[in-house]
Amino acid sequence: MSIREHIACLEELSALDQEIRVIEETLAQERGTLTELKKELERLDASIAADAASIAEMAKTRGELSLEVRQLSAQVERSREKLSRARNEREQNAATRELEELRRIQKDREEEIGKLQVLETQAAKSREDAEAARTDLLGKLASSEGQTTSRIVEVEGQLAKKLEARKVLIKSLPRNILSRYDMIRQRRGTALALTHDGTCLACHMQVPPQLFQKVLRNEALETCPSCQRILYYKPAPKADET
Ligand SMILES: [Zn+2]
Repeated sequence: MSIREHIACLEELSALDQEIRVIEETLAQERGTLTELKKELERLDASIAADAASIAEMAKTRGELSLEVRQLSAQVERSREKLSRARNEREQNAATRELEELRRIQKDREEEIGKLQVLETQAAKSREDAEAARTDLLGKLASSEGQTTSRIVEVEGQLAKKLEARKVLIKSLPRNILSRYDMIRQRRGTALALTHDGTCLACHMQVPPQLFQKVLRNEALETCPSCQRILYYKPAPKADET
């Protein structure tokens, strides 16, 4: 195989690699969309579960506090009776103090119940919002998942075909040229650099004249001194061709 044929093969390979890159990007994007939607669904599920757990916890505490308030009411009743039966000032004062203390505790508990009710309402609202968002998202997933999945399968098919074509194509390239090409491509994105007139069209730097003469003769695969890509020559398209 001549250098000219190697270059033709490399050009074909480079075009194919660009197509493969575009397909891989499309694939990543399609997969990413689904992954994002599913992640959002998981987040909403977790938020709904957390709200439900905290609502249950608060309701339980509120139940316990209500029970305590009822017990305190009974104690207040008993304390009042005690006060009415007080036989002297000392007993009266003691009963009054007890009554005041019980009423203070009762008021505290009632305030706690009130605060919990506010928090429970907030949590219920947050859960309701998350549930509405979840319903929305499920609808979105239902309408797009099938479509996206079939598109992914289709794009995966395209990719497999291109990779197969690449396998066939690289068989006609010497191993050292292919590994040089692959190494540069990994580093630079593309591995080939065309020149018409001594300017590297990949990095737009001027190639030294001596090197350009060598490239013109197509005796060996040269490298652009600036961007390290494989440099090759083709005459510029004529004005009426562009
Ligand atoms: Zn260059």
